Amino acid sequence: MVVAKFGRDAAWEEKFSVLSSQKSHILNLSTDNCALSTRPHRAGILPAAGLYGFPFPLPTMNPLSRRNAIKTIALTTGALATSGAFAQPAATPPEVFKLPALGFDYDALEPHIDAETMKIHHDKHHAAYVAKLNAAIAKESSLASKTVEDLVAHLDAAPEGIRNDIRNHGGGHFNHTLFWQLLKKGAGGPQGDLLKAIEKDFGSFAKWQEQFSDSAMKVFGSGWTWLVLRSGKLAIENTPNQDSPLSTAGQPLLGIDVWEHAYYLKYQNRRVEYVKAFQDVIHWEFVGARFKELQG
Ligand code: MN
Repeated sequence: MVVAKFGRDAAWEEKFSVLSSQKSHILNLSTDNCALSTRPHRAGILPAAGLYGFPFPLPTMNPLSRRNAIKTIALTTGALATSGAFAQPAATPPEVFKLPALGFDYDALEPHIDAETMKIHHDKHHAAYVAKLNAAIAKESSLASKTVEDLVAHLDAAPEGIRNDIRNHGGGHFNHTLFWQLLKKGAGGPQGDLLKAIEKDFGSFAKWQEQFSDSAMKVFGSGWTWLVLRSGKLAIENTPNQDSPLSTAGQPLLGIDVWEHAYYLKYQNRRVEYVKAFQDVIHWEFVGARFKELQG
């Protein structure tokens, strides 16, 4: 417990209370020496902070976070008031959208993509997009009959109040659902009409690989790099966050998730290695079938 550093609960509470009442600051709790300090919050305005039932237990640290010598915990009244500890549990919204099965074992893509990443990525990250999409849809029952493709392709049709949720969580659900399907170890390269189209629009498959990797390296922050069918031609495009080419009338054939959650456990900052590894697990047969289907 952090209070040990401060001698007694009251001393910790007092110092925390003083520091946290400073607007526009994040309270840093350094877990290597249990020091308290403040620094400016880049987003600017934070609500006035207060004390809500401290002392509190420190989060349990796993070995990964333990290696990061300092854990920063942002504590504001806003965050506290809406946290599970203080808010009434909300009713679970209807499960309109469901998390699809991964379709293969977590370790099926080893060593290119590790089992733990696959498990967390699918079971936690994708599941969270689905849950939050369902929560958004629960506010607008007329949307419950639509497919996720419909929702993401026609963001303007969504009520303004939940449009951003559909963009982020609907996009996240659609993008990841496609992502799991286009992964397979040892699936070779593109064939047939897809290979011809790649050669026509990019010069050669090798040039496509190079251009796709370059593009994936250029995604700043979190996002995706796509092979898109747009206006009858193939193109490589990047989107930020969980934006999908569907929202701009493009049809994604394949995409690489370059959010850090997709590779950080194994590759850390070495995105270039992850991008290369991804190219070894593209399920080209699936992508070719999708290309044929979308061409109609
Ligand atoms: Mn992801």
